[in-house]
Amino acid sequence: MLIDTHCHYNHEAFDTDRAEAIQRAREAGVGRAVVIGYDLASSAWAVQLTEEFPELYAAVGIHPNDAAEATPEGLLRLEVLAAHPKVVALGEIGLDFHWNVEPPERQRAALREQLHLARQLGLPIVLHTRESDREVVAALEEEGGDWRGILHCFGGDPEVARRALAVGLHLGLGGVLTFKNARQLQETTRTLPLERVVLETDAPYLTPMPHRGRIRRNEPCYLPFVARHLAALRGLSEDEIAAITTRNATALLGLPEDQ
Ligand SMILES: [Zn+2]
Ligand SMILES: [Zn+2]
Repeated sequence: MLIDTHCHYNHEAFDTDRAEAIQRAREAGVGRAVVIGYDLASSAWAVQLTEEFPELYAAVGIHPNDAAEATPEGLLRLEVLAAHPKVVALGEIGLDFHWNVEPPERQRAALREQLHLARQLGLPIVLHTRESDREVVAALEEEGGDWRGILHCFGGDPEVARRALAVGLHLGLGGVLTFKNARQLQETTRTLPLERVVLETDAPYLTPMPHRGRIRRNEPCYLPFVARHLAALRGLSEDEIAAITTRNATALLGLPEDQ
């Protein structure tokens, strides 16, 4: 069974067929998934979905594009949500200098506040980086350098990989790994310690090959395409990749064994 460590069933893209999509994932061998919040409303919704579906877990957090929500009141609401027993991480948090929806200084402040909150709550972190991965890793180095969490949608920069692993992170690999133009990511992935790799879809975004371009919305049921690609890159079977990445995610996120 695979674990999708990063998906957004809480996104409106799943409003018309959420239960069916979750069923499709189950049938495709994606036994569990972590629903990732990106603002207060979607975090609350992620938590609610975990109560409806036993195979779902949640992360709660404020994405850099919504950094304005990281007020003292917002952080308090996050803390209340994080107390739910099925919340397994704080995220997604980070910096996004591609869209720059919020000014960089506000993004940086929201990241630091939430790093401190994760530390206080003893939760792993889920990091979003866009044109910012070196700065995010530098922030973690400054903030003690001893973290548990996932650098989600890892992009392939070998220096970022080295420093992210050094501060304790796992690297999240998703649909981009299957893209023809993702040469550097594929090369770096050949050298990563597999015990520090987890799989993700980031659904509804980043549909993997061969569905990329044909199907607009990504779904957790397509995670096996990522696993297959990783298996080919590493000369292992899909079953071996599934066993390794599921073991990694289970241990990192404190999920119950085999379910
Ligand atoms: Zn993200
Ligand atoms: Zn995401």
